[in-house]
Amino acid sequence: SPPLLSVRHLTKTFKVREGFRRRRVNAVDDVSFHINAGETYALVGESGSGKSTTGRTLLRLIDATSGRADFAGRDIFSLSAAALRELRKDIQMIFQDPLSSLDPKRTIGYSVAEPLLIHGIGDRAERQDRVGRLLTRVGFSPADAKRYPHEFSGGQRQRIGIAKALILNPRLIVCDEPVSALDVSIQSQILNLLLQLQRENNFAYLFIAHDLGVVRHIADRIGVMYRGRLVEEAPTDTLFAAARHPYTQYLLASIPPSHPGLRIAPARPPAANAGADRTSGRGCVFSGKCPHAAAHCFEQVPVERILGDRHHVACHLFS
Ligand code: SF4
Ligand code: MG
Repeated sequence: SPPLLSVRHLTKTFKVREGFRRRRVNAVDDVSFHINAGETYALVGESGSGKSTTGRTLLRLIDATSGRADFAGRDIFSLSAAALRELRKDIQMIFQDPLSSLDPKRTIGYSVAEPLLIHGIGDRAERQDRVGRLLTRVGFSPADAKRYPHEFSGGQRQRIGIAKALILNPRLIVCDEPVSALDVSIQSQILNLLLQLQRENNFAYLFIAHDLGVVRHIADRIGVMYRGRLVEEAPTDTLFAAARHPYTQYLLASIPPSHPGLRIAPARPPAANAGADRTSGRGCVFSGKCPHAAAHCFEQVPVERILGDRHHVACHLFS
């Protein structure tokens, strides 16, 4: 069966000011990947790698510059306003800061029910019932619906944000660093909850994270992004056992052994050399920091190669 989501050659260009000059930066640069129904696909990379921008274009929160994204037979980037409303039932988002989806002046019951109100689903009693059941599933009681966001901790608020993302029974949930702002002890609770909810409902996740440790236990496949490019993609076990791209290897080496499952600090490549200019389209995006860079790495963009079962890498070492 065709994938639930298929992204082809997605590019998002921003104009940035540099002194008196303006230049174009490809925040997302020719990115292709797919997500199957019920699958968890992680996009991993440091901040500025384009992973959040990728997620936001799929929700049409920002417009793609070029490329295509097909979701369950619909071309996301050319939907009418009415069709986009329908799409929003199927694709939901969980944010790093749960307060961005919770109104501080409204009860959490109202906020969780809000998507039902927007889409005109159910009467008051039905909505109340659905909210109560969802709050229970994420660890609260139906009576908590009357409380306000400030009465909850960060981890609790994230669970409320998850309930809100689930209320329309989406088929894909984009999770943008949903545990990055939480204490390490709370992170695994939230990750386990996300896993458990997926087992019960079989929706897919696009899980955006800045480190591999966080996604190790939840992702089926992982795509690694660097400066707008998808540089390596593989099933999770393959990536951890046999990463090939020098940047992926760097990310793996920076997961501290004391927290094998989780870490918070963003990974930074070791050196800050000149680097290839990503606006020129020439060269490998990692050439400025790569210990294996050769002359042609600064001249030619590496083509994606298939190394094995669902394992792709874009690096001249393998071309
Ligand atoms: Fe390093 Fe060259 Fe591979 Fe880029 S293409 S990751 S610079 S070896
Ligand atoms: Mg981000």
